[in-house]
Amino acid sequence: MTPEQIKLLGLRTSGFKPLMAERIYLRCPRCGTKRSNMTRSDIDPEGAVLAELLCPRCTGGDFGGDTEYFDADGAHVVRTEHE
Ligand SMILES: [Zn+2]
Repeated sequence: MTPEQIKLLGLRTSGFKPLMAERIYLRCPRCGTKRSNMTRSDIDPEGAVLAELLCPRCTGGDFGGDTEYFDADGAHVVRTEHE
């Protein structure tokens, strides 16, 4: 396990509520804001439990930036494009 994965697992165990089925965690990589049990979107890859993207406070608008996904082991999940 890489230090980054350990860091992610630590993030996941602090501040998040237990994840419900068909939901996903969101975390803002800039300010660290966490939101538990957000409704998954169609583009969220299967197996991903954590999505990191900029929150509305950081963008001054809506959620934004490039979304990074991680699975329950802290591994990066690559999104397959839906055409
Ligand atoms: Zn933020």
